[in-house]
Amino acid sequence: MSQKRDCYDVLGLARDASEDQVKKAYRKLAMKYHPDRNPGDKEAEEKFKEATEAYEILSSAELRPRYDQFGWGAFERGNGRGGGFGGNIDLEEAMRAFASAFGGGGGGFGGSFFESLFGGMGGGGGRDSDGRSRGADLRYDLEIDFEEAAFGAKRELTLDVVEDCAACHGTGADGKSQRETCSACGGRGMVVQNMGFVHVRQPCPRCGGTGEIIRHPCRQCGGAGRAKVARKISLNIPAGVDTGSRMRLAGKGEGGARGGPPGDLFVVLHVREHALFSREGADTRCEIPIPFHIAALGGEIQVPTLRGDVPLKIPAGTQPGKVFVLRGLGLPEVRGGGTGDHYIAVTIEVPTGLHGNAADLLAAFGAAVKESNHPRLAALRKKAAAFFSRKKTLDPTQGEP
Ligand SMILES: [Zn+2]
Ligand SMILES: [Zn+2]
Repeated sequence: MSQKRDCYDVLGLARDASEDQVKKAYRKLAMKYHPDRNPGDKEAEEKFKEATEAYEILSSAELRPRYDQFGWGAFERGNGRGGGFGGNIDLEEAMRAFASAFGGGGGGFGGSFFESLFGGMGGGGGRDSDGRSRGADLRYDLEIDFEEAAFGAKRELTLDVVEDCAACHGTGADGKSQRETCSACGGRGMVVQNMGFVHVRQPCPRCGGTGEIIRHPCRQCGGAGRAKVARKISLNIPAGVDTGSRMRLAGKGEGGARGGPPGDLFVVLHVREHALFSREGADTRCEIPIPFHIAALGGEIQVPTLRGDVPLKIPAGTQPGKVFVLRGLGLPEVRGGGTGDHYIAVTIEVPTGLHGNAADLLAAFGAAVKESNHPRLAALRKKAAAFFSRKKTLDPTQGEP
């Protein structure tokens, strides 16, 4: 059997340390070595597990006296119930124990830390000694129109949220009857089964891991203490939000257990594409076909922006693909208060179905136009001529192409 460190040494405590000191010392170590802060660090993981195990023993009114008397030997043979710390606890179990010690709305990790866990929706939390625990954070994915994202919008959401049962206030017990500490596990929620030489820790089958027994369950919730309710949420979407924008509604998540604080609701926005406008951040873009004669002679056209049509001067000789910028006519920036720009990308629309006067005029134009009016075509002809004259010097037997 491997030599295990003394629990008091692990937590850096004197043997007469108070319950509060045990908790504080553990919290300090757990914050430092928590796997979420040390991803992939095996050594930190071991230290986290070691500290959690020491805390589980020293924070237990049942286990600590036995440990004080016999050290680790108290748990090696697992005589009777309890015991069984001979094997090492696994990481998942340590994480659960940590969450149940500090997951509540009270101390422990601040909001920013839990926010960084948001991707995995860590949410929830364990219960404190009164059974109170913070409600889980909830995520709601909401699809909105481009217009709603551009101008802001009010939305009413209805979500099913779990909270304390109104009839029993979350206790799960009927009337005056109370929850009682489960005698099978001494209220710890975990028991150790001895199978030959192997000790298996598992949730207590009598209380289902809650550590408590309800003799007369609440008739409304069947003893669960929780109920699903449809909750209406008013959402004010600010102008300028984009796909991936996240709105945090403090206290609108799952209800806390037995009067614990509620979790938060995170609304993640997804903006639908628009038929006319596209966007990149706060900048918007629109592609506009302009008539061939305006591109050639210049003129003024009306272009759509988020604030309606505005005039845009097209200089004579504008080529397809040209992009004009209208400063400050994009979307508002949610943070910073600036405004993006609006880009107009020009394409040339060749007229179709021409006949009569317009066709005659265009034919006359074709007869009148000079080579120098089409410099790109003229440049191409020059390059082609150079190619063929070079070809002739290399292969004089070949005549003109
Ligand atoms: Zn109830
Ligand atoms: Zn139990």
